[in-house]
Amino acid sequence: MADPTVHDVPQPIRDGHGATDNGPRNTPMDIQNPNLLVPPKEDAGTLPNMKFSFSQAHMRLDAGGWAREVTQRELPIATTLAGVNMRLKPGAIRELHWHLQSEWAYVLEGSCRISAVDQEGRNFLEDVTAGDLWFFPRGIPHHIQALADGVEFLLVFDDGEFSENNTFQISDWFAHTPRSVLAKNFGVAEEDFDSLPESELYMFNGPVPPALGSDRIVSPAGDVPRSFKHNLDSMTPVRTSGGTARIVDSTNFTASTTTSAALVEIDPGAIRELHWHPSNDEWQYYVSGRGRMGVFANSGHNRTFDFRAGDVGYVPFAMGHYIENTGDTPLRLLEMFQAPRFEDVSLAQWMALTPGELVRHHLNLNDKVMASLRKEKQPVFRP
Ligand code: MN
Ligand code: MN
Repeated sequence: MADPTVHDVPQPIRDGHGATDNGPRNTPMDIQNPNLLVPPKEDAGTLPNMKFSFSQAHMRLDAGGWAREVTQRELPIATTLAGVNMRLKPGAIRELHWHLQSEWAYVLEGSCRISAVDQEGRNFLEDVTAGDLWFFPRGIPHHIQALADGVEFLLVFDDGEFSENNTFQISDWFAHTPRSVLAKNFGVAEEDFDSLPESELYMFNGPVPPALGSDRIVSPAGDVPRSFKHNLDSMTPVRTSGGTARIVDSTNFTASTTTSAALVEIDPGAIRELHWHPSNDEWQYYVSGRGRMGVFANSGHNRTFDFRAGDVGYVPFAMGHYIENTGDTPLRLLEMFQAPRFEDVSLAQWMALTPGELVRHHLNLNDKVMASLRKEKQPVFRP
């Protein structure tokens, strides 16, 4: 029987290179990141970090639930998008607020009610459940309130410097406006504001709201012209030999003008093909399963990162990459872009649509590889 310490603790050794690490070491993290500890021999050069887990992010605990964020502060390469993971207890309210950035959201569990009012006085009120998205344009005020089952969701903002701790809260503004000004603004007496909260509420407990119909207010200006709600999980996916993809951008969720996404599911053993994006950097959120991503940064630079549920990944603009399912369950992730359209370039499609002899002479490819290219005229994740 193998010595359990040798068997359980991975060592930074590959083909006679490296040596044992006898400590000090953070063994659980080494086990979670096998491709950092023992990189594939093809990995080379210095690249910025492209992984940060929500599990390493500070939790903001409040009466109504919790929130944590992975922004440019946690993951410095992530300049285009920032993410917040939040949970609200049944009835709890993420208070009425607005911010500089647009907000794209994916409901992970449970359900909530969301509202917004736009610059034309048109309003929006809907309930969303697991698998739904919402999108609020920058500067538009909104709220989130959990329904009877509570809710957990991912928020994605179109600026890496966003912070959930720097939003404009209605209670904060009231607390910092002289009572005399409030009295004039609302046409009432100063004493009418005696029970205002003294500071911002942020996330606080409340009663589960009534049925949606009885909560609606009809605006004289009507509803928002493009719904801020979309169901992602019920979209018919693009199906391929290795998994599925649901692509959502401004063409099918027209309100989402600044953020696009693909919800990708990769079967055990399969890969999200070698590709890159001609639009912008890619921000990733791993929903379930395990995988690894190899990133090619030109000039011989390449690095491989491991991911599991709750991790954030990032790929700088135009860098080539693949994602391989290294677990035994489907690997589910969101690929997100600060761009109105989802766009990618498939390596195989590029090669298939370029004169064959030219391609062959670059890479000394045999007939078998050349024949496989002819089947690759369609990129893997596009309808
Ligand atoms: Mn918000
Ligand atoms: Mn990609």
